[in-house]
Amino acid sequence: MRRKVAILGATGTVGQRFIEILKGHPWFEVSVLAASERSAGKRYSDACTWRLESEMPEEIGEMTVVETSLKAIEKAEDIDLAFSALPGSIAGPVEEEIAEEYPVVSKASAHRMDEDVPLLIPEVNPEQLGLIEVQRERRGWRGFISTDPNCSTIQLAITLKPLMEFGLKKVIVSTMQALSGAGYPGVPSLDIIDNVIPYIRKEEEKIQFESLKILGTFDGSRVKPADIMISASCNRVNVRDGHLEAVFVELEAKPTPEEVEDAFRNFVGEPQRLKLPTAPEKPIIVKDEPDRPQPRYDRNEGGGMSVVVGRVRRDPALTIKYLCLGHNTVRGAAGAGVLSAELMVAKGIL
Ligand code: NAP
Repeated sequence: MRRKVAILGATGTVGQRFIEILKGHPWFEVSVLAASERSAGKRYSDACTWRLESEMPEEIGEMTVVETSLKAIEKAEDIDLAFSALPGSIAGPVEEEIAEEYPVVSKASAHRMDEDVPLLIPEVNPEQLGLIEVQRERRGWRGFISTDPNCSTIQLAITLKPLMEFGLKKVIVSTMQALSGAGYPGVPSLDIIDNVIPYIRKEEEKIQFESLKILGTFDGSRVKPADIMISASCNRVNVRDGHLEAVFVELEAKPTPEEVEDAFRNFVGEPQRLKLPTAPEKPIIVKDEPDRPQPRYDRNEGGGMSVVVGRVRRDPALTIKYLCLGHNTVRGAAGAGVLSAELMVAKGIL
């Protein structure tokens, strides 16, 4: 039997991706759509301006949107899990309320750095699922909260994980981030046409703090942050989907670019070993062409779930430099949430 899921923030950019990815999913069935008071009570097709290239699933369009509260969700359906794509500013208390009864897999930033909440990338740190036990004991909830990292952090951390074997010491990253990362309608067109905006609120801090928790060591009760120095500089560019990042790393072992490429190519994690439905065959794809990856051509690799790396070369200042690209609303958002939930099913947590 498929597990019944609610999508919180179902009308938004990430909420729509959840609906697209969950269409025909073997393990999950969309049973509740929740959004703000503005949308509650309306048919989904009336409440939502569908912005994806795929068609809105007909049966989803017919569903009635409910308010985002435990009471409204319980009244609508007895769910097994809620995916949260709520704005970070409102997600905190709402997710806590819902987690008293149901598991919440969240894309919002509100609880990412809580000591007892996993900050999960299934290929990178599946052991952080152990925090769910700690959290339940501490908070006395029947459900729990598990979070996925910020979109630009997920793709970076996936590429940093295989570099840990070379003794990763320092990371400098400069991002070129897509417009869909700001939600809808996001950045006004007159601000971004013919332009680059060298500032994304709180993004640099998220990359710098979240990466250390993601790559940290879980000792059974808490995560000790990784001992790495990370510096980020974030830019919004005139691209629809797909964040591109220029990454510079200092590695103790001084590997050659070819050895680093091999480490990227050979990297697999639990989702690949368990053959989870949304897992890409290769978490990292390495391009040989000198002018790739590019957002327009490479963002849909692995169904949008692979991180595409290119231009791996020696760096005269640190050790190695490369470019990485990830689809921000798939690997960076809804796809990440679905993969996390699939891992929880495979591990018997859901
Ligand atoms: P969005 O397009 O602005 O959508 C926001 C959603 O939240 C809409 O469904 C909206 O419903 C709902 N909402 C707004 N205020 C609410 C309230 N007071 N109570 C209940 N629901 C409310 O934003 P998004 O880009 O999808 O982002 C959603 C979350 O994912 C954010 O936390 C964001 O940081 C995170 N995220 C986004 C990306 C990305 O690439 N876009 C990547 C990673 C993480 P109405 O339609 O009714 O207003």
